[in-house]
Amino acid sequence: MVSLLPLTVACPQCGSQDVVYSCEPDCCFNHVCGRCYTSFELITRLVGEQPGTLDTPKAERDSCAPTVACARCESIEVCLLDTGETPPRLICLSCHALLALGFTEVSPRAEHFGF
Ligand SMILES: [Zn+2]
Ligand SMILES: [Zn+2]
Repeated sequence: MVSLLPLTVACPQCGSQDVVYSCEPDCCFNHVCGRCYTSFELITRLVGEQPGTLDTPKAERDSCAPTVACARCESIEVCLLDTGETPPRLICLSCHALLALGFTEVSPRAEHFGF
């Protein structure tokens, strides 16, 4: 039995999970860390497929919660698979693709403040 968790991400710069989605799925997947203000985009990479049916949680979407699109079908119904693996696997609830999470466009804020 696999259990699903809402997507959480740790800042690639400081590791904080205080990460806010700052844009719209129609535009991009830019996120900002609430601790060090690093901004980054989330991407996924297809790594396999989950066989069988899934017990899909019916959770309300929080528009500030971390959001990423499926690498295969571009759905944003992407959850964490609670398997204890590191790095954690993600799963697309629309097409059952197994996904690995990645970061792109990482830009630490510190340099802009001249630290
Ligand atoms: Zn951070
Ligand atoms: Zn998909």
